[in-house]
Amino acid sequence: MYNVALVIEDKCVAKKGCRLCILYCPEANTLDLNTERMVAEVIIARCKGCELCVVVCNAAKHMAIDMVAVSADGSLMRSKGESAALGQAYQG
Ligand code: SF4
Ligand code: SF4
Repeated sequence: MYNVALVIEDKCVAKKGCRLCILYCPEANTLDLNTERMVAEVIIARCKGCELCVVVCNAAKHMAIDMVAVSADGSLMRSKGESAALGQAYQG
């Protein structure tokens, strides 16, 4: 299992001109603007999970990118319940 970035479209402010994550992603053709929906979009198969996009998006206080786990069959484990469970595990 590994993690990839996933844009939370409701929070993304690309329509207002933000391109921070797109500028900072070190992997070519991995994070780009979806010009139909005017949100940033991660090409999941190319994402290396470095989290740089999360850092810059959070630094700008947009909080519009989550890291999500990819299961062995390639599906994204992105339900809020699963995220909460992971967080609780770290609270000891
Ligand atoms: S940095 Fe965040 S708000 Fe800005 S385009 Fe990327 S996902 Fe959207
Ligand atoms: S986690 Fe890294 S490789 Fe993946 S989209 Fe974000 S910046 Fe790009």
